[in-house]
Amino acid sequence: MAQIPPKLVECAVCLERYDGSVRQPKLLPCAHTLCLSCAGRLFQGGMIRCPECRRAHAIQGGATHLPPNPTVVGLLEQLKAPGMASGSSAPPQSQPMQKKPGGYLRGFKPGEKAGPGPIRAKRN
Ligand SMILES: [Zn+2]
Ligand SMILES: [Zn+2]
Repeated sequence: MAQIPPKLVECAVCLERYDGSVRQPKLLPCAHTLCLSCAGRLFQGGMIRCPECRRAHAIQGGATHLPPNPTVVGLLEQLKAPGMASGSSAPPQSQPMQKKPGGYLRGFKPGEKAGPGPIRAKRN
């Protein structure tokens, strides 16, 4: 499982994680990505100046008309998926460890406990 570098899903301008609404990852014609919020702020006079390469792009219709970056959108989906989240609390490895047979099982004879042993002890 490849780890997703945080930089790939963060806007380089505001350093916030992209999302599906205000911080939608927008792909500039120079192949740099920034969030919709920053793209909207950088949009001036029909142009967006890329904060990374300083190239100015004429964008018709404004920042919302930029195409989303499908790579980043895909990464965000992976991050959203349950189980893929890097939650460090309660690792699921502790349960299988407990279920592993202990040493006592080796000397355990099934007939002793599986039989009416405990019941007999109670009646006595
Ligand atoms: Zn941003
Ligand atoms: Zn650029």
